[in-house]
Formats: sequence, C-alpha cells, structure tokens
Amino acid sequence: MQNDDPLVDIDVGGIIDEYLNEESRPKKIGSYYPSEIGMCIRRSYYSYFIQKPTETTALRIFALGNKVHEFIAKALKESESLTIAEEEKPIRIGYKDEETEFMIYGRIDDYVETKNGKKIIIEAKSTGDITKVTGPDPKHKMQISLYLAAQPADYGLLVYADKKNLEIKQFKIEYNEEEYKKVMQRFKDLDYHLRNKLLPPAEYYFDNKKVWECKYCPFYQECMQALADANSLENYQ
Ligand code: SF4
Repeated sequence: MQNDDPLVDIDVGGIIDEYLNEESRPKKIGSYYPSEIGMCIRRSYYSYFIQKPTETTALRIFALGNKVHEFIAKALKESESLTIAEEEKPIRIGYKDEETEFMIYGRIDDYVETKNGKKIIIEAKSTGDITKVTGPDPKHKMQISLYLAAQPADYGLLVYADKKNLEIKQFKIEYNEEEYKKVMQRFKDLDYHLRNKLLPPAEYYFDNKKVWECKYCPFYQECMQALADANSLENYQ
C-alpha cells in the first residue's frame, strides 16, 4: 500500500517490499531441489525456462514462514532434551545412468539427536490454519523421504506450525524405499523433459484434488495457452 498521508514521511509497507525483493537466480538443468519435486511437474519445468518475479504478497508470506522456522530452530537448540540440534543441514544426492546425470541439493530444516540417541530429521512447515491440517501433505512427505535417504536417521518428523498462534501438529515419517524410488522417478521425469525441451503433462489441471493450486501458479497463462494449442491441434487432425 502506498503512503498517501502528506504528514507521514515514510511508507513502511513499501520499505518491507523493497527489503524482500531479492533477485532470483536462473535455474540450471541438472540441479534440482527436494522442496519442488512434489509440485506440478509442468510448473517445475516452466520455472527452468521462464523467470518471473515472486509477487510481493507471496514474499511477505514466505518471510513470516521463515520467522516461524527460525523460532522453532531456536527452541530446539535451547532444549535440554536434545544433545544435538543443527539447522539448515545441507544434503546432496547424485544420480547417474547411461543417459543422464544430475544432482539434488537440499537443506534439512533441523537435525536433532535426543538424549537416548534417537536421530530425527525435522521438516517444519508454517500454515495459515492448523485446523485444516489433518495429515502429512504428500509434497512434504516426498521431501522428507529424500532427506531420510541422504542422512542417516531413525525417522523424520513433519512439523506444521500455525502462523497465528504457533499451535503445532506433528507427523512421524519412516523411511520408505518405495516412496524414495517414486520421488527419484519424478526427478528423472523432470530431467528428461527439461533436457529434451518436452512440455510435461499439466499434472495439477487434470487432478480434481489439486486443480485449485493452478489459480496460484505463476505459469497459469502459459499453461492454459499450451492446453488450448494442443486442443486446436487435435481438432485440426
Ligand atoms: S497451471 Fe496448473 S497444471 Fe498448469 S503448470 Fe500451473 S499448476 Fe501445473
């Protein structure tokens, strides 16, 4: 919102937006990220070829989410029930076959060890309404499954925190080989489409449970245009 009051010399909202407005770096084919692999594969694909600035509303929401994560990390570090509490622990997973090679780069939000020696990977997510969280989101489960493959641990913990009141819900996630293979297959699919410049299917648009997310997709226009072009080609043939 702009500062319309002539008696006020600063516009705090504008200053916040300037502060948050960081330059996003172009992505490189062959470098992938666990936090994105659960999203619509077509959306991920577009993000490698089309750079769009993140909307200021989304940047403000991310900033609040980061504050919640920082708070959780601080509380874990100060907890006397834990012997180790590391935040932002980097992980790397390499993949190579006859046709391709890529690297997955991620950061575990929090890695902790309890006094009785249990090692736990924590992935923290902030939410606007915790009452709507009834179980782990499949996207987040994919992310933590990768971390569990890269970093030895007894189990993972998905922690959801309400941004309004810090109410917490947590879900234990065990390492699951099948889930890990499923996630790696998604990376291979993404890599294949990117290297061959083949637009992947409009995954979320054709999924009744996920189509609502298309409304917030930065590549909505491009995706709808591609669907319309594909339809007119089909009608023509
Ligand atoms: S509009 Fe929907 S289907 Fe298309 S890229 Fe975005 S999320 Fe995927």
